[in-house]
Amino acid sequence: MDSSREEDLGVYQMLWDCSYCGASKLLARDHKHCPNCGGAQDPTWRYFPEDADKVKVEDHVYIGKDVICAACQAPNAAGAAFCGACGAELDGSKAVQLRGDQAADEGAAFAADTARAARDEHRAAKLAAQAARQAEADAAHGAPPPAPEESGGSKGKIAGIGCGVLLLLAVVCGGLGFWWFGRTTVATIEATSRSWTTTIQVEEKQSVRESAWKESVPSGAERVSCRSEKRDSRSVSDGETCKNVRKDQGDGTFKEVKECKPKTKQEAVMGEKCDYTVNKWARTREAKATGGPKDAVAYPDPKLRRTGDCVGCERAGAKAEVFTIQWRESGGKRALSCDTTRSIWDKVQVGSKWKGPVGVNKDFVDCAKLQPAG
Ligand SMILES: [Zn+2]
Ligand SMILES: [Zn+2]
Repeated sequence: MDSSREEDLGVYQMLWDCSYCGASKLLARDHKHCPNCGGAQDPTWRYFPEDADKVKVEDHVYIGKDVICAACQAPNAAGAAFCGACGAELDGSKAVQLRGDQAADEGAAFAADTARAARDEHRAAKLAAQAARQAEADAAHGAPPPAPEESGGSKGKIAGIGCGVLLLLAVVCGGLGFWWFGRTTVATIEATSRSWTTTIQVEEKQSVRESAWKESVPSGAERVSCRSEKRDSRSVSDGETCKNVRKDQGDGTFKEVKECKPKTKQEAVMGEKCDYTVNKWARTREAKATGGPKDAVAYPDPKLRRTGDCVGCERAGAKAEVFTIQWRESGGKRALSCDTTRSIWDKVQVGSKWKGPVGVNKDFVDCAKLQPAG
């Protein structure tokens, strides 16, 4: 079942109560006048019957909603030329308002309905329609729309302002901090020392226990053990949910239908999860060498314990070199430094003076923008 469906359960009489003599459960289609006192039916008093009071209308031919006589308010069948109650011409008369649908779960009884409930529903609908018309008229005349209710009240407002102030402060402080630490000025600086640092990451082959879905287990994995585990879920068809609905047809009858919608449920999708042991290279330590301008730049001896592809064997991994220059600001006592490229580092001799951007409030020298000074 992949779509909604509707099943016809027949056409029945709406009921009405006579407002003149109090007779109740009168048939809305058959009795346009009270069989007890002759009073005209008020179509706003039509209500749905309890199951026990249902009267079926066989071979019902639906023409349309009843129309209300403008002269006497009596309902007349659609298509009638003259009012059956007072004889007035029905041309251009308004159709009756429909009662809202009534619904009940499949197998459950419908909630009890009354003429009073029907009348209240019609009044509410009428008031809503009036309000809508008024709003439309106001809008057409340029009147301001009704003021929307203040959300949260004054407390919310104060909290809102507080949050706004905090947010503003945070932005200002953040910006200020950025400006404070990011500010640079051009200064004359003297190189006081130069150094280099080289590093080699040392990796060790290790035996690691891991787990993965079966198709992701790496080749060469050992001691593989798998089990069934929930991997995903999918929605599957699970019959349908139905309810019975009564629909006022406006001609003194209502139609009862069964409306069904397909239902789904979540079902687990299983997969095979495996634990396994695999040998992997992992970074375990770093070898480091440093030197000054007189020392040839060289990489450290990583002192590998054991080479090869065994568990516990080591190999040299990623290499890096950093060239650092220490500075003193002329006229000041501040010590500054920069990490830079080999070619700049080579050019700068200890004791030489340079001009370039330095941090006003933090240790920063833009060594890529240095110009010889004096
Ligand atoms: Zn009556
Ligand atoms: Zn009439």
